[in-house]
Amino acid sequence: MQAFEDNRDVVHFIQGERVRGTGTKSQAVYNPATGAEARQVLLASADDVNQAVASAKAAFPAWADTPPIRRARIMFKFLELLSARREELAAIITAEHGKVFDDALGEVARGIDVIEFACGIPQLLKGDFTDQVSNGLDNWTIRQPLGVVAGITPFNFPAMVPCWMFPVAIAAGNCFILKPSERDPSASLFLAELLKEAGLPNGVFNVVQGDKLAVDTLIEHPDVAALSFVGSTPIARYIYERGAHFGKRVQALGGAKNHLVVMPDADIDQAVDALIGAGYGSAGERCMAISVAVLVGDVADKIVPRLAERARALNIGNGMNAGVEMGPIITREAVERIENYIQIGVDEGAELVVDGRGLKVDGHENGFFTGGTLFDKVTPEMRIYQEEIFGPVLSCVRVPDFGSAVNLINEHTYGNGVSCFTSDGHIAREFGRRIQVGMVGINVPIPVPMAWHGFGGWKQSLFGDMHAYGEEGVRFYTKQKSIMQRWSQSISKGAEFTMPTPK
Ligand code: NAD
Repeated sequence: MQAFEDNRDVVHFIQGERVRGTGTKSQAVYNPATGAEARQVLLASADDVNQAVASAKAAFPAWADTPPIRRARIMFKFLELLSARREELAAIITAEHGKVFDDALGEVARGIDVIEFACGIPQLLKGDFTDQVSNGLDNWTIRQPLGVVAGITPFNFPAMVPCWMFPVAIAAGNCFILKPSERDPSASLFLAELLKEAGLPNGVFNVVQGDKLAVDTLIEHPDVAALSFVGSTPIARYIYERGAHFGKRVQALGGAKNHLVVMPDADIDQAVDALIGAGYGSAGERCMAISVAVLVGDVADKIVPRLAERARALNIGNGMNAGVEMGPIITREAVERIENYIQIGVDEGAELVVDGRGLKVDGHENGFFTGGTLFDKVTPEMRIYQEEIFGPVLSCVRVPDFGSAVNLINEHTYGNGVSCFTSDGHIAREFGRRIQVGMVGINVPIPVPMAWHGFGGWKQSLFGDMHAYGEEGVRFYTKQKSIMQRWSQSISKGAEFTMPTPK
């Protein structure tokens, strides 16, 4: 196996090679635990994007014609290579994103789940056939790849979110262009090189590093058939609207504000563990992070003091160090944004129970850290309730009963994930049925669906008709074709001027 080339400049990957491209701009990539600039990512010019699209377009006919089982075998090989090198990839993620190493390993594992799913592509592409729809006439349905498709991904899962897209897209016979986040771009090259090593033909998977210019070039390019996006809601809406304008198929997953309801009959120990892990894990920089605890009846007085104790005791530091529970935030600007939201919460009258602002970690004084913050008595009209903070800030909202909890959540503009902790089966069932959110957990704080179930939120958390990965992913990356066939022996004599009906 080749060693991963970890250069100072993070470049593009086009036609099976690392290339510097023609762009004249670059951007710093930091190690957020130390605050030091680690490398520069080159930002693609429109010409670089056009070259990647041309490479993918040229590779498409042969790749689409490759039998699905042979495409699947390359996925199996990729799976084997990535499984063997998962720790290397996790270390790259921790170095650029900051999340703790075990969490980065978990991210890689959840990406691998989707690769395993994509290995089943021959079965997933199997069509439907109806014998004898009329005398001597058969009708069947097949699904064919779209062509060149692109994925634009966020910083918070630099390996897993691309893996939500490209394994399914490629296995289905498409050629893929990944535009990763410019804040932690190195994982994309690691994946590209493993795909090449697995035997993927050049041009089937390309990476363009870049910013808005690269994204806009992909949106407007006539040879790009579909766009998959994961990121914040304003950009998701933009990609969806612009993509539709240019006639593309689009799935655009946006931001979130996920609630966890604690019923009075819940196991309080479990609920506290769930809120601490889901609120502060990955420093709250997960689209499925819990940022609102909905405390029903008298449960708040039991739970808030325990949350406070645990939030103050979080072990925060460099994600590569053993025992660390929460790493740094992605950038200095993001720390400022999060701490600014904490001030807004104070000004709005929420009760600041634990203040994480201004945290300094010994030996990492320049790192991008903020501590775990806990608010109580947050109310629905506050900005800290309505807006996505995307940091380790947990807001407690007190409600009198189950119905108020459901109404509160259903009125929120986001609908990505939600959870309810209860020991009452009827409440659990009603919650699952009535809640207006795409992914629901019962006594499960972060209900990220398994690879064969598909991932997607509702409302402002997803624009488009189909969820990521799973069978919805296969549908997204393929188009249906219906074929009707008859042979000369059974053709009736003469032209028919009426609507054909079964004979
Ligand atoms: P972001 O929206 O800033 O960036 C996402 C991607 O869009 C990046 O590749 C970026 O380069 C590109 N981009 C940014 N600004 C752009 C512009 N003006 N025009 C075109 N492209 C642009 O998101 P982020 O900060 O990287 O990620 C965090 C966000 O992603 C959070 O809102 C989080 O909830 C969301 N997220 C959602 C899901 C989900 O499944 N719903 C999963 C992960 C993250």
